Amino acid sequence: MLHGAGALTRSRAPDLLVVGAGVMGGWTAYLAQVGGGRSVTLLDAWGAGHARSTSGDETRITRAAHGSDRLYTRWSRRSLERWKRFGAEHGIELFVPSGVLWFAHRDDGFEAASIPALDAEGVPYERLRPDELRDRWPQIRIDDGLRTCLYEPEAGALLARRGCLALTAAFTTSGGSFHRAAVRPGRARGGRLLEVRDGSGRIWSAGTFVLAAGPWLPGLFPELLGRVIRVTKQDVIHVGPTAGDGRFHATALPAWCDFDAAYYGIPAIDGGGFKLAPDRYGPLFDPSNGERVVDPDSIRLARAYLRRRFPDLAWAPVVETRVCQYEATVDGHFLIDRHPDWNNVWLVGGGSGHGFKHAPRIGEYLLARLDGAAEGEQDGPDEARFRIAPRVPGSAARTAGDEMARTWDLF
Ligand SMILES: Cc1cc2nc3c(=O)[nH]c(=O)nc-3n(C[C@H](O)[C@H](O)[C@H](O)COP(=O)(O)OP(=O)(O)OC[C@H]3O[C@@H](n4cnc5c(N)ncnc54)[C@H](O)[C@@H]3O)c2cc1C
Repeated sequence: MLHGAGALTRSRAPDLLVVGAGVMGGWTAYLAQVGGGRSVTLLDAWGAGHARSTSGDETRITRAAHGSDRLYTRWSRRSLERWKRFGAEHGIELFVPSGVLWFAHRDDGFEAASIPALDAEGVPYERLRPDELRDRWPQIRIDDGLRTCLYEPEAGALLARRGCLALTAAFTTSGGSFHRAAVRPGRARGGRLLEVRDGSGRIWSAGTFVLAAGPWLPGLFPELLGRVIRVTKQDVIHVGPTAGDGRFHATALPAWCDFDAAYYGIPAIDGGGFKLAPDRYGPLFDPSNGERVVDPDSIRLARAYLRRRFPDLAWAPVVETRVCQYEATVDGHFLIDRHPDWNNVWLVGGGSGHGFKHAPRIGEYLLARLDGAAEGEQDGPDEARFRIAPRVPGSAARTAGDEMARTWDLF
């Protein structure tokens, strides 16, 4: 089979064609290419880590605590090793070892539920009383009913956009073929997709297709995924500490999650601001044409949270804002499944606000499935969660799942 039909040069169709150079497609294509034995093409409508992609922000938290769910704890640890190894091999800093703090307002919440999974997976952590927290990080306010704190010293932040660019660069350096093209499924025959086509009519054929289109997946497959993945606008605010004040830098403060208050954040890295974002769902959002301007209310609410937790930043100026999008599945679990009509097509996405850190393991898992591993062979019955359906609204992944269950029928 030929691909690139219509172009001046024709070449053999690759074994694998990955659509989407975000973190999920990027890791899949890179691992497939360096693993050898396959020819791989990667396509993206705008390029790796671009401003509209969910992976295109500067930073993402990597943490192992995930309530009682051991699979995500295990996957995040394995992925972090991969991120570090990739950074070391390519001479690029992608991981900032700031640690991650969890603020717990209940004794029986997400943080407490995480402890057995952390123990079982051998992840180091500390439990701190609020006064111990204040002694170590006096820039944190603790008098809002904080019960306890969970500290993951080996967690931190990933440099997200830089990571996507580095993955695509490493993919091409090792022989992969990368092109800018916005494609849709084309002809199919005998239960197999034969090609995808771009807007100019150019045809891209391949043996196997991985569609890692992030928030664009429901638009590509509205009937199949329109009620599985919901895309919402997420406003992210960065405030600037006073000149010379290093207390809010990643060398002096961990990244943090306050799920009960529905906020999380990352301290300043390099010259950037102190970042915070709400962990609740914004309005529905069009990832291609949506205006990326934050709502003034998002800034007001962020300041209210800063007053409560980081009071010395409450009136710090906003130095940057960013609109991203969650591509949240109905239950918060990722999507990694074969297309029901085409047995050579895999759909990957549904990051649901926690997918970035896991992308190395997602790519590794998917490639094993492509190589013939049956569902359940790698992580047991837990793998069923990645199927397109059935999914139970609000059944899982994060504390925000409860909120999802309440809001899902508005969709
Ligand atoms: C505000 C916010 C905070 C988050 N915080 C964290 C965090 O702290 N930790 C964490 O682990 N995760 C976090 N996440 C989630 C994480 O960022 C996502 O799960 C992850 O980036 C999704 O990656 P992706 O590759 O699936 O999608 P994307 O990065 O969006 O990549 C999809 C790519 O597909 C391309 N594409 C789409 N359609 C086509 C087409 N038809 N043809 C060609 N190309 C196409 C796009 O151009 C895009 O580049 C957060 C998300 C948000 C929004």
